[in-house]
Amino acid sequence: MTTLAQTDFLPFHRPSLDEREIAAVVDVMRSGWLTTGAKAHEFEKNFAAFVGARYALAVNSCTAALHLALDAIGLKSGDEVLLPTLTFTATAEVVTYFGAKPVLVDSEPEYFNLDPDDLSKRLTRRTKAILPVHFAGHPCKMDEVLEFADRNGLAVVEDAAHAFPAKYKGRNVGTLSPLTAFSFYATKTLTTGEGGMIVTDDQDLAARMTLMRLHGMNKDAWKRYQQHGSWRYDVVAPGFKYNLTDLQAAIGLVQLEKAESLRLERARIAARYTQALEGLVGFQVPRVSDEVQHAWHLYVVVMSPEILSIDRDEVIDELGKRGIGCSVHFIPLHLHSYYKQTWGYVRGQFPVAEKYFNGCISLPIYPTMTDAEIDRVIEAFRDVSLRCRK
Ligand SMILES: *Cc1c(COP(=O)(O)O)cnc(C)c1O
Repeated sequence: MTTLAQTDFLPFHRPSLDEREIAAVVDVMRSGWLTTGAKAHEFEKNFAAFVGARYALAVNSCTAALHLALDAIGLKSGDEVLLPTLTFTATAEVVTYFGAKPVLVDSEPEYFNLDPDDLSKRLTRRTKAILPVHFAGHPCKMDEVLEFADRNGLAVVEDAAHAFPAKYKGRNVGTLSPLTAFSFYATKTLTTGEGGMIVTDDQDLAARMTLMRLHGMNKDAWKRYQQHGSWRYDVVAPGFKYNLTDLQAAIGLVQLEKAESLRLERARIAARYTQALEGLVGFQVPRVSDEVQHAWHLYVVVMSPEILSIDRDEVIDELGKRGIGCSVHFIPLHLHSYYKQTWGYVRGQFPVAEKYFNGCISLPIYPTMTDAEIDRVIEAFRDVSLRCRK
């Protein structure tokens, strides 16, 4: 049953799935093997080849991938990890799993990634690692991050939940540092509903994460249940239950084949938005460095509420009234109750991220948007922006 309101409303996101993903899932359902097996291994192999990494381990979320990565670098209670305040809570919550402290860092004002200049101000004797996030799909200044890490003996784990596929200075995200985590959550650029991947070139890190991904067992079920498999296994560590099922991997394999064409579609939408919206008084369209290939997970316009007659929430309401679904990425971590109460962060501590947050609006950007839908967003946005001039 479709009502007028439903057909008229353009949602913030729709997944890019077609009959190929559906057929791939049905094949797995008929195969007799539902959980981690041949499809998950094939997905790992193809994903590793796509980004050019030696090892890719499929897991059930990016949060799990980050957790395994921090375990693999030996994060301990009392350690500190530098990460941007402008991110999703998953980036920081995994640090707390170890009894370690998420040390928040402000954003730089151009791409709203972690500000390399702010890192040194937050460095202490306890700092163990940096967890940069490639915000919206625009890679961070990784040369600066890696140089800082090197100089101070820190591990680097990249949160690339937004950055597939993306490049920095011609190199794929996933090959820039020892450990990179990707998300296949429902709204991400490649989806398996829920899912994630951790990639590395390091054999020892890969071995530790493979072990911890499935209960710390030295042999997984897939190997045990094959014809010449043995039922015997040994538990060598208290691991986690983080494996990705073949049902999900089957979706991921099809999505991976389409990844480049889907990226080009998003880039095309971004280019149309930028062409139509740049120059609107009081609104800043996203900047893109010529050193990167943007994944365009998000298209964020930042308004300057101080020179306009309405604020960000009102703009989103007005767009909603015109049938356009928008969102906000993200409420900076230091403004959430938990981070304030447990870690003592206060409003005013990260001025660039706060100013960004007061004005940020994420517009719909996904490959199944029609030209007419893109035009509707542009028209609605122009209309609202003209009405909110002082
Ligand atoms: C989505 C997201 C995550 C978490 O991904 P899951 O696969 O849902 O665990 C982590 N970091 C950032 C920046 C995200 O946007």
